[in-house]
Amino acid sequence: TATLDIDKIRKDFPLLETNVYGRGLVYLDNAATTQKPLAVLNAINSYYREYNSNVHRGVHLLSQQATSAYEAARVKVAQFINAAHSHEIVFTKGTTEGINLVASGFGKEYLQPGDHILISAMEHHSNIVPWQMIAEENAAALKVIPMDDNGVLQLDALPALLTKNVKLVAVNYVSNSLGTINPVKEIIRQAHLKGIPVLIDAAQAVAHLPVDVQELDADFMAFSGHKLYGPTGIGILYGKSNWLNKLPPYQGGGDMIKTVTFEKTTYNDPPFKFEAGTPDISGAIGLAAALDYLNELGLEQIRETEHDLMQYALKMLATIDGLRFIGQAPERAGAISFLIDGLHPFDVGELLDKQGIAVRTGHHCTQPVMDFFGIPGTVRASFAFYNTKQEVDLLIAGIRKAITLLK
Ligand code: PMP
Repeated sequence: TATLDIDKIRKDFPLLETNVYGRGLVYLDNAATTQKPLAVLNAINSYYREYNSNVHRGVHLLSQQATSAYEAARVKVAQFINAAHSHEIVFTKGTTEGINLVASGFGKEYLQPGDHILISAMEHHSNIVPWQMIAEENAAALKVIPMDDNGVLQLDALPALLTKNVKLVAVNYVSNSLGTINPVKEIIRQAHLKGIPVLIDAAQAVAHLPVDVQELDADFMAFSGHKLYGPTGIGILYGKSNWLNKLPPYQGGGDMIKTVTFEKTTYNDPPFKFEAGTPDISGAIGLAAALDYLNELGLEQIRETEHDLMQYALKMLATIDGLRFIGQAPERAGAISFLIDGLHPFDVGELLDKQGIAVRTGHHCTQPVMDFFGIPGTVRASFAFYNTKQEVDLLIAGIRKAITLLK
């Protein structure tokens, strides 16, 4: 397959033309959030200018138009991850809300004292804390799949961890701080052998790899629109029909009901059962435009283009004396974390910023990963298909300059 024409693609992203401190922006913080193509900005603009209206309730034309765009977005998301039905797609405000929704439902319906939730050693806080909170409420506990010094999960530990009292496994597909691609299909396979459902945090996966929920056989999968070139405030929770039917509603309100009296309420069918109140209509429409844009580029082409770029970045970073990679998994995507001997990551990040290079420093909402490596944080450069080798060269030069200034 041909790789992408990056120069042409960059013109689709107005913000990439921005100057910071008088220099062209080098945006390498894509794991935090991606920039938005014009197609997304235009779709949001056109919704508000041309058919802004509430969904599902109106008989009038604008409401019908808004409803059909909102529901078409749901169908598009279902196709994007190859869900069997669009009613398995719940709109949320992001990965975090999707995980909390499932955690809350499991807490109410399934968790008994002594039960376990199994997560991994490299989870984002949003795939730790919600489970910890419901574990605490139910006298249950978290168990953790360990990782090795390269930031690779130790799968040989998995069978012994999948005990009878594990009620759910929740793991990320791609680590936001290490870039590791986890063998989620194998984890799901092993969990299912013991009848245990699995939630995949795909926040860092969907922008980089083609993801097929049926092929993975995931029970739940959560991700965020804003890391997928769409707007903030919109996210997706995928759930298999049988699970969404069984889980209790997350919030009460309009749209999630069938009938309400003061004595009793009956709930709407999924996905509406989980979408109380006016949803993020423009967000769903913007996300659909992002998916169209990505489909046009092709997920396979995106993966190959980014793979090339990551290999180049890894090779060039390795030429810097005193640079130590944090996370060296053979299978990785998106993010590269590193430290420079004797320098605090924050100082490196600040000096890069002054040269127009946007990276992230700190624990990246994965404090247990930092504790595991015994470090305060890392410098993280994270890539999108619109990044170039010239930008990698600027990063390398920027790091060298930071080292000279700080040492
Ligand atoms: N999981 C992972 C792996 C992430 O990288 C992030 C975002 N950094 C989240 C969950 C949370 O996503 P959001 O803040 O969009 O809810």
